Amino acid sequence: MTVKLYWKDAYLKEFDSVVERVDGNRVVLKETAFYPTGGGVLNDTGTLTVNGIGCRVADVSKEDDVIFHHVEGIPQIKAGDSVHGAIDWERRYSLMRYHTAVHLMDGIVEKRYQNGGITGGTIFPDRARMDFAMENLNRELAQKIVDETNSAASEGHKVSSKIISRDEALSMPNLARTEPGRQLIMSMPEVRIVEIEGVDVQSDGGLHVANTNEIGRLALSKFENKGKHSKRIEITLGGSNEN
Ligand SMILES: [Zn+2]
Repeated sequence: MTVKLYWKDAYLKEFDSVVERVDGNRVVLKETAFYPTGGGVLNDTGTLTVNGIGCRVADVSKEDDVIFHHVEGIPQIKAGDSVHGAIDWERRYSLMRYHTAVHLMDGIVEKRYQNGGITGGTIFPDRARMDFAMENLNRELAQKIVDETNSAASEGHKVSSKIISRDEALSMPNLARTEPGRQLIMSMPEVRIVEIEGVDVQSDGGLHVANTNEIGRLALSKFENKGKHSKRIEITLGGSNEN
């Protein structure tokens, strides 16, 4: 099992660890700040440096509870080596901002439009998209939801995460919004939840900014009507307010 440093501190940009094993171009460390692709969010990229030689981490994946750093070329690394990891912060911070924006929007839709029914989403470093089963969702309403999300973001809601028991998670109404989310809760002894104070709580393994005022300004970049119960909203973000 790889220790997930990113859960302890989503703002951790560099860290030291030890190589546990190397499998071709895949490196396993004792602990890592690299977030693996999952939960609809793309992986981190960055570098691993051993004895002054850096290698590029192009992809990060997770199997069971082991995190694999896919490096470019065959790494000159072996088990037991000390390693310094550095994630590409600009990409990660952007993914965090988009991720919190999506939760905020989701929370607003759930609260104000009972028939919201978010069915999925994908978060990229330069855009995010969400799919809704909402029958009456059109471009005009999508714009209204984006505007409401912008107002909520500028209110500066705190964002935090914690780990609770499965029973506690199952007793919370509407914690998992998608069927895969519900299946996931059933399969786990403990559940990590992410809360945007006063707006949204959901089970989530991903990384977020600490306050909604870091999100920046959302713009509706695309609206697609893919069928009665299938609408897609795509958003892009303007500049953030990081310090
Ligand atoms: Zn999420």
